[in-house]
Amino acid sequence: MLARALPEIFSAAASLLYPATCVVCSANVGNGEYLCADCGRRAPRIVPPFCAKCSEPFPGAITQTFRCANCENRTLHFDCAVAAYRSRGLVRKVLHQFKYGKQRHLRYPIASWLVESLGDPRIRGRHFDLIVPVPLHPARERERGFNQAALLAELIAGPAAVPSRPVLERIRYTTTQTAYDRAERMENLHGAFRLRKNRDVRGLRVLLIDDVLTTGSTLSECARVLRRAGAVSVHGATAARA
Ligand SMILES: [Zn+2]
Ligand SMILES: [Zn+2]
Repeated sequence: MLARALPEIFSAAASLLYPATCVVCSANVGNGEYLCADCGRRAPRIVPPFCAKCSEPFPGAITQTFRCANCENRTLHFDCAVAAYRSRGLVRKVLHQFKYGKQRHLRYPIASWLVESLGDPRIRGRHFDLIVPVPLHPARERERGFNQAALLAELIAGPAAVPSRPVLERIRYTTTQTAYDRAERMENLHGAFRLRKNRDVRGLRVLLIDDVLTTGSTLSECARVLRRAGAVSVHGATAARA
């Protein structure tokens, strides 16, 4: 129910809020569109085959369900994480400008990539009780001026008719993750998140939202906290995947 109706409603609503020019090259675009046809073609779409758990694409022809090298020999606490685009080229540039260049208006095309991921068969038709954005540490949020995941979660909550609530908080200011390998990232994040006071997720089916999935460690650690607090399922969706 969620994803089928969502893209149309979403684009109709957003077109009222945003002028009809391409966010990358400023060419004219139709109502409710953010990228012109040329730029749209340059956004790298994830196509099958990809990992059933973390959506890591695999070059080649595999037809059966498989787990990738990113997921092997580790416990990922989310049910699965979906993404429709790779964080490369134009997508990476737009994400970067949004997050580090503080260009908040880019939340619209990025949320539309996120909406596309919700069309994934692993998510489509599933019922969710709650949308939860991955939290930033308050110090980092102050420095950036916003939490990119929260902006995206709010944009999809209305049309999805599922409430978005920041029930998690980040309690450790971790150093940048890029210098770490997979095992170190998991270790680095342990204890970084907790459920906020007076929040209750018992019995809820949660959709966890972030801008990008890199190794899945952040989504996994958030999912672990939510499950331990009683959530019955935690699926992840991101606008792009490394
Ligand atoms: Zn363009
Ligand atoms: Zn995987």
